[in-house]
Amino acid sequence: MLFGAHESIAGGVFNAIERGKKATCDTIQIFNKSNNQWRAKKLEAQEIDVFFKAIEETAVTVAVSHTSYLINIASPEKALNEKSYKSLKEEMERCEILKIPNLVMHPGSHVGSGEEVGMNKIAENINRMFDEMKNNSVTLLLETTAGQGTNLGYSFEQLAYMIDRIENGDKVGVCLDTCHIFAAGYAIVKPAEYEATMKSFDDIVGLDRLRIIHANDSLKEFGSKRDRHEHIGKGFIGKKGFANFVNDKRLKDVPMIIETPKGEDLAEDIENLKVLRRLVKPTGAKRA
Ligand SMILES: [Zn+2]
Ligand SMILES: [Zn+2]
Repeated sequence: MLFGAHESIAGGVFNAIERGKKATCDTIQIFNKSNNQWRAKKLEAQEIDVFFKAIEETAVTVAVSHTSYLINIASPEKALNEKSYKSLKEEMERCEILKIPNLVMHPGSHVGSGEEVGMNKIAENINRMFDEMKNNSVTLLLETTAGQGTNLGYSFEQLAYMIDRIENGDKVGVCLDTCHIFAAGYAIVKPAEYEATMKSFDDIVGLDRLRIIHANDSLKEFGSKRDRHEHIGKGFIGKKGFANFVNDKRLKDVPMIIETPKGEDLAEDIENLKVLRRLVKPTGAKRA
């Protein structure tokens, strides 16, 4: 199993690779532009070059890029929706340039327009996008959400609803965030509950759609609908919950990325990844 963290691109995209190495990551997630502004600085040939070189030298790969928090392709507001659409498209292009195979986004918020209307708008925008960028090979991942506010994607049924309406189904996958599904009311701590949740995911969405796991513990209790990440083992999911994920053979090809709080020296990333890796039981050992 590959373990990694979200790493900052401050100072250039290549810096994320060095940070990933320092944090003991096998693979990382990055923003491909500043995540809290619309404008994207052009990726210069030199920066791209250094980025690829850093990957080669460190063997740290970039499994996924995360979209800007401003994007909401479910927005009922025309101008914001169009701006979001263009921005998403630009991020898909940047991933293609940087050879990042996956781009993950929170599906969107309906902001009072209704869940179905919002989900239809998301599918419509994604269809338009794939139609306009036929040569783009990046897989777009819809992330499971905690169900805060009017956020869509808090149930497996909602993810399936959107995916069913996307014509280029093979270009869409899912990112499962452990903190988000726990907050949304999917039990994952006891092995039997975990099995039931994964079975439900497989039945409704399909495990073959699962491309990335965001491994975050939850600062808020089960079903809280609150999205607050905690260090691995320190929250309500706990080591028990994460042991289910890291020992699930069906997930052996799905990178696990932490998005937990940290300081400049990345000591927390190193510790959280250590905790996750230690939960892996030696092969041959029976699951508890
Ligand atoms: Zn996440
Ligand atoms: Zn979150």
